[in-house]
Amino acid sequence: MDARPPLDLADFERGPLPPGVAHGFTPRRGGVSSGPYASLNLGLSVGDEREAVLENRRRVRVAFGVDADRWMTGRQVHGTGVLVAGRDLAGADGDVLISDDPAWALAVSAADCVPVVLVDARGGAVAAAHAGWRGAVAGVVGAALDALADRFGTDVGDVHAWLGPAIQGACYQVGEEVVAAAERAGAPAHAIWPDPGVADRWRFDVPALLRAQLMAAGLPAAAVAASTTCTHCAVDRCFSHRRDHGRTGRHWAVVRAPR
Ligand SMILES: [Zn+2]
Repeated sequence: MDARPPLDLADFERGPLPPGVAHGFTPRRGGVSSGPYASLNLGLSVGDEREAVLENRRRVRVAFGVDADRWMTGRQVHGTGVLVAGRDLAGADGDVLISDDPAWALAVSAADCVPVVLVDARGGAVAAAHAGWRGAVAGVVGAALDALADRFGTDVGDVHAWLGPAIQGACYQVGEEVVAAAERAGAPAHAIWPDPGVADRWRFDVPALLRAQLMAAGLPAAAVAASTTCTHCAVDRCFSHRRDHGRTGRHWAVVRAPR
């Protein structure tokens, strides 16, 4: 018998998505990893002990009530590749996961990058996308919307989006090459500003770019919500790749199509 307390869905941060859509961003606590990975690290390739990560993943699966063989993850490469749950191989290259099958959970991994959850409130299909600055600039949310439309007939006007916890603009310093790429991608002026303390450096609000892209694609403003949690600031609640200089854990943002 397993006497350990289960990880509770109430511990997950959630967005204002339509009722019936099981989703959430995993907390930092509630797992068995130690050191920089304490405690609910879900990343297998960040230097943590494999057995600990597998136990952490098991706890998340139990919290969502989804079997181990119905978890869709992708190998995230900061691109725009799409994987369809139940069709494509879990673990193949893909920063976008889509599904209309409630039996499947979609999970993207992040620790500063923006996890994006999309829900077709009418058709019931869902997507999870991993959007760091490279993915955002490459158009990963547009790729997710296109995939939902192509595969499931989703109308963009029915889509609700939630941008999960991520490093916020005030904490995200970038260099000129990132600014140039963001501007080429049409980043709004309010998403980039000069760093107040360092010359020739800027602050980049990736969630602001993603929000602008979602609205440009046709989502109503009221259908785009974003977490105010900054992974860099929330030391007790979040892993942060930048804050922890790369030696840290990973969260999952999870979503499942409604029944
Ligand atoms: Zn911050």
